[in-house]
Formats: sequence, structure tokens, C-alpha cells
Amino acid sequence: MSDTPSSPAPNLPSDMDRRNFRSGMTSPVGDFEPFEDEAEILGDTTVREEVYDEEEADGEELFGDNMEADYRPAPHLDRYDMDELDTEEYSDISQTDRAAAEAEMRRRDREAGVHRDHQDLFYDKSDDEDDIPRAKRRAAEKAAELGTETETDTEMVESIENLEDTKGHSIKEWVSMLAPRTEISNRFNSFLRTFVDEKGHYVYRERIRRMCEQNNSSFVVSYTDLAHNQHVLAYFLPEAPFQMLDIMDKVAKEMVLSLYPTYERVTNEIHVRISDLPLVEELRTFRKLHLNQLVRTLGVVTATTGVLPQLSVIKYDCVKCGYVLGPFVQSQNTEVKPGSCPECQSVGPFSINMEQTLYRNYQKITLQESPGRIPAGRIPRSKDCVLLADLCDQCKPGDEIEVTGIYTNNYDGSLNTEQGFPVFATVLIANHL
Ligand SMILES: [Zn+2]
Repeated sequence: MSDTPSSPAPNLPSDMDRRNFRSGMTSPVGDFEPFEDEAEILGDTTVREEVYDEEEADGEELFGDNMEADYRPAPHLDRYDMDELDTEEYSDISQTDRAAAEAEMRRRDREAGVHRDHQDLFYDKSDDEDDIPRAKRRAAEKAAELGTETETDTEMVESIENLEDTKGHSIKEWVSMLAPRTEISNRFNSFLRTFVDEKGHYVYRERIRRMCEQNNSSFVVSYTDLAHNQHVLAYFLPEAPFQMLDIMDKVAKEMVLSLYPTYERVTNEIHVRISDLPLVEELRTFRKLHLNQLVRTLGVVTATTGVLPQLSVIKYDCVKCGYVLGPFVQSQNTEVKPGSCPECQSVGPFSINMEQTLYRNYQKITLQESPGRIPAGRIPRSKDCVLLADLCDQCKPGDEIEVTGIYTNNYDGSLNTEQGFPVFATVLIANHL
């Protein structure tokens, strides 16, 4: 891949962006139960004051209770490129004024025939010429053209200017609604296609291509990159990880299929793995407020189950009439079952159709606090951790690992099927090892 040092860094949020973004962030993130030992987590009040000062300085207090993580020093990030920096003074601009100004600029661009999105960058011919076979490239170009048409269509739908304004909904509700989902998809799509590192490399285009060359089904997205390029997505992700990862996986899959239309023969699921989540949480500090949040922790693997098939997309047979129901896509914490048979209206029983049901790999490991991280005289805590798909078989007992995953109240569908009763426990569903 050739360097393109002359291209501008498109990912630097302007001061104005940051200010507007922050003004959208001042409402409380959610109601959390108070901790038993809040002081231990939050530190004393003097520390909090300092935190607020720094916050004003760099404006990245994106994640409610995870916000402390923004204040770890990151020398490579804690500076602005003086050449890029706009040192002029601006007065604050209201959300409405800004929206109006942006609408005006878009209208002007449209009249001038300027398109501000970067969709042509992903397929720019100069840098892929040598390593993609001609036929494949032609297919990709064709797919790109199709992609362009669809994008023009979705542009007709009013895009959401202030995605971070959840209009009174919780973040989880907001990111489950159609319009925000569409906007999130578009922004993540644009991030994958256009994100450029400081050397001018299209990081994620490269990663997706490498993943496909190796017939893999996942690739890693750096949280730091996401936060710099699409800060609203980075703000939503830890708060609503099931929903956000679902959207991100779908975007990634669409992108893979547009490049390699037959990739579904290799895998039917593409997973986005999140690295560099800023705050590392100790196993013993997990609390109710972390439930259904994306967290990062570390520990020693003390036990692993074998790799088991987990029901993923289930079809059922109606026992009365033999009609095949489904597919029912199983989520990670609920078992989705048919209500009644559309053919004979029977409400059951239904049996699992073994031939048409898809499985994915499932493994449970036990993660225990590393000896060095346990307070003196305390018993090490441990937590079960679920590994799915290509995360299985990545570690063995004795390994010290770092896990990014969703801390959740798990309803274990596979155990339920085996033992006939539901099992509830808090587990960590791994996203990245
Ligand atoms: Zn039936």
C-alpha cells in the first residue's frame, strides 16, 4: 500500500465539534444503584476536582462512569499538531445555529456538485492494483458502484445531525431505534472505509482484506481510533455493547460481502473485536453498574471447558404437523422460541430441527484475579467468561489474559437445553482477548 502523506488527516475533531458535543453530554447518563464502597472506586473528592479540570482541558469525558480512563497520560495523543491547529478564537455557536449552518453548507455543496463523503476512497485504484487479482477487483468495483447507489438512496432519508442527542431515551433504547441505527451504521461504515493512521494507511481496509485472505471471521478495531474519528459511536459502545456490536458486525459483514460476494461460504458471521478500551477494571470491582456494559479486565485462566457447539440459529419442527418454523436467531442471553405454529396454530410442542439448525463454537473459561493484583489477605475472585466463535481455543489454564467483554446477567441457553432449567449468573461474554 502506497503512502499518501499529502492527504489531510480527516479525523481531527475541531474545537467547535468538541464543544458542541460536550454540551450534548451534560445530561446524566443513567440511574445507577449506589455502590457499597463508592469511595474506593471514585477516590476522594480532591481527585474528582482534578479530574474535572483536566476534563475541561481535553474534552473527552465520553463515558459516564468510565470517564476516569480518559485521564491516563497518552503522550502520543496529548498534543495537537501545530500545523493543523486552528488558533483563531470562535464564539460558541448554538446547536440550532450549527445545524442551520451545516444544512446551508450541504445545500451549497450539492448545488456545486461536491460530495463530502469519502466513499470513493475505499476503492481507490492506485494502491490495490498489485495485490488483488483482476477479476476480483472488477467484482469489487462493481460492488462499489452498487454500494454508491444504495448510499445515495439512504442519503434521501434525513440523516441525524446530533446522534448524541438521545431525545430522552436511554442509550440502549436509542441505538435500538431504526433512524439512529441507520445513522450509526453509516458512520461506522465511513469509519472503516476512511480511517487513516498517522502514516496515511487505511488501517481497516487493510485489516478487512487481511482477514479475508486468511479466511478469518473477525478483525480488531481500536477503541482509540474509533473515539478519535467517531466519538459518538465510541460513547455509545460501552453503554449499549450488545446493540452496538450487533450493528458493527452487520456493517463489517456487508463490507466483506461487497468485496468478496462469496465470503458467506467461509463464514456467516463477521465479528468486530474491540481493543484498547481505556479503563481496565479489576474482577473484584465489578458491580451492578457494570451490567451490560463493555468492560476490560485481566486475570489468570484457571479452567476451561471443551469447545461445545452452541445453538445459534435454530429451526423447529412442529410435532403436530411437521411444519418447519424459524429460523430463530438466538441472542446471547435469551432463548428465542416459537409461539405458535403458523400452519396448524398449535402452541407446541416443538422439537429442534437438527439438520437446519446452525451452531457456533462456545467455550466457557474461568478467569481468576492474578496473584499480584489481590489485596493482601483477600481471597482471589473469579468470574466465568464465555468465548464464542473464533475466540474459542485461544487460551489454556495458567495463561494470563486480558479480556474485553460484556459483563452480563447470563441466561445460558445451552445449559438450559441440556438440563431443562434456566441458569442465571453474571458472566463476561468475551469480545476480544
Ligand atoms: Zn403445526
